Amino acid sequence: MELRVLGCSGGEAGGERLTGLLVNGTVAIDAGSLTQALSVTEQVGIRHIFLTHSHLDHICSLPFYTKNVFGHTEAPVAIRALPETLDVLRRHLFNDELWPDFSVIPSRDNPIICYSEIGPEKAYEVEGLRITPIAVNHLVPCVGYLVEDDHSAFIFTSDTAETDRIYEVANATPNLRLFITEVSFPNRQKKLAEASRHLTADKLKGELGKLNPGVPVAIYHLTPGDKPTILPELEALGDPRIRLLHQDERIQL
Ligand SMILES: [Zn+2]
Ligand SMILES: [Zn+2]
Repeated sequence: MELRVLGCSGGEAGGERLTGLLVNGTVAIDAGSLTQALSVTEQVGIRHIFLTHSHLDHICSLPFYTKNVFGHTEAPVAIRALPETLDVLRRHLFNDELWPDFSVIPSRDNPIICYSEIGPEKAYEVEGLRITPIAVNHLVPCVGYLVEDDHSAFIFTSDTAETDRIYEVANATPNLRLFITEVSFPNRQKKLAEASRHLTADKLKGELGKLNPGVPVAIYHLTPGDKPTILPELEALGDPRIRLLHQDERIQL
């Protein structure tokens, strides 16, 4: 399985913390930066977009993506997400006011995108992958994903505060090669992290105590302006499993 990081603030370049992963060139998880990170040909290659939640940094390239692939796809691209997330897209984004409704353009029978509801802990088999949403703890309904093929697996928690279930799933996955989770704020902004349901380095320490040893951990979603504070706080945890997830990184699992 090839995992490509499409944009996060873990790298040097990040001016924003836009989120997106591409698996084997055909399945995207989140759509914060599809159009910035990928050529149009690569964008056309995406057949499924699994969203974790409705926050802008995870969906904001979707409108431009629909325009870029218009006329280049033979079948609709499936936008797969929780019903609550799809509802936000329908009401607030593809509503003909903020952006045209590409779920009925160019026609209701063969639109550019089609919405497909997902539910926690149901496995979806697409493009040779098995993708299972796991509910996490964020300000809006949000899922992380367990992504597996016949050889390996990774987990992406998406944005979350303290949570348990996804660690239970991780520990029950024998071929788990990577656990991607977030740290958003410096330790001194603990209250902000709690109010917005994110993690600090201190909180990450407690979370990683739930994860089987030996699984590499990659961190994303650092607030760019706070990186100089967060990085030493992560370093101070002294946990050899932890590294940053880098923008444009390609990972073979
Ligand atoms: Zn969020
Ligand atoms: Zn986010």
